Amino acid sequence: MSRTTVATIHLGALRHNLARLKTMAAPARVMAVVKADAYGHGLERVARALGSEAECFAVAALGDGLRLRAAGHRQRIVVLSGPDNAGDLAEMQRLQLEATIHHEAQLPWLAAMASARGRLRVWLKVDSGMHRLGFAPERVAAVHAQLAAMAGVDPEIGLLTHFSDSEVFGGAQTPAQIARFAAVTDSFAGPRSLSNSAAVLGWPDARGDWVRTGGLLYGLSVVDGKCGADFGFRPAMTLSTRLIAINRIGRGERIGYNGTWTCPEDMPVGVAAVGYGDGYPRSVAAGTPVLVGDRRVVLIGRVSMDLITLDLRDAPEAKIGDRVTLWGSQLPVETIAAAAGTISYDLTCGMTRRVLFVED
Ligand code: PLP
Repeated sequence: MSRTTVATIHLGALRHNLARLKTMAAPARVMAVVKADAYGHGLERVARALGSEAECFAVAALGDGLRLRAAGHRQRIVVLSGPDNAGDLAEMQRLQLEATIHHEAQLPWLAAMASARGRLRVWLKVDSGMHRLGFAPERVAAVHAQLAAMAGVDPEIGLLTHFSDSEVFGGAQTPAQIARFAAVTDSFAGPRSLSNSAAVLGWPDARGDWVRTGGLLYGLSVVDGKCGADFGFRPAMTLSTRLIAINRIGRGERIGYNGTWTCPEDMPVGVAAVGYGDGYPRSVAAGTPVLVGDRRVVLIGRVSMDLITLDLRDAPEAKIGDRVTLWGSQLPVETIAAAAGTISYDLTCGMTRRVLFVED
């Protein structure tokens, strides 16, 4: 089967981005966040590209840690939201993964853990205001004491929190979270980790000992109106396809499902082989930019499962077979995400199985 929609993963961009993150975060160290199949870029591919330059990986769940160990990676690996049960914990101990302890329910599993296999490194997660995972500030001291007394737990207990609004530079929520975290953790030794990508950019006071960066590693920004390149990062994914038809459509004719767009004149309409079946967002409206060759044109009509339609009046030289770029270095994925009412992570994570991944 020939597949036309291609996600090209730029390994050099990944390496550049990690190096830049290390420089920006220093003296804090960098956890390379590779959850969700490395934000859709491919877990094994990204880990291989970063190699020993990545001092530590962060994943969402045990399964990702297993995949990294199976691929031969010996670095530190932090599981950001697990273990989810006692069985996972035993497996994490076997694989020497680091656990995030965020809930009372996990404590009996840890208490029952034998130290014979080596002590498990843990990160105690503090809910400093996001109210997703983590212990309430008033529980932190008691839980820390319990963990410190457990035979199977490494005595160097990490302290971790996550920001809800760090991309809002100058906002009040992040300083409030930093202060709440400091108030409950100041009396403990142990490494601290607060910052995600946006916090590395906007909140230098929150560096701690380890930053946990995903988005910027892939050249992605969630800062309103900015793309990763605005901060010196390079996009690690280009999504492209081919033009498979060019039709002349008459003035007043309607384009695509439900005829949401009407031709204002006799005009060339291009059809490109990509749609929401590949992960291109159905929610983008007419006017969303697309590149045909190097020429910027706009999408017209609805996004279909396999196809999109393009206004080719500004690309008179376009021909069938031309490369069509949906996002990449010349057309930031952040622009398309904004048009779709979402963030860039959502789009790169959303590539479907029929998209062909290649590396350069
Ligand atoms: N830390 C935690 C707990 C997360 O859930 C995430 C991602 O959502 C990150 C770090 C990385 O965030 P970002 O990709 O914005 O750097």
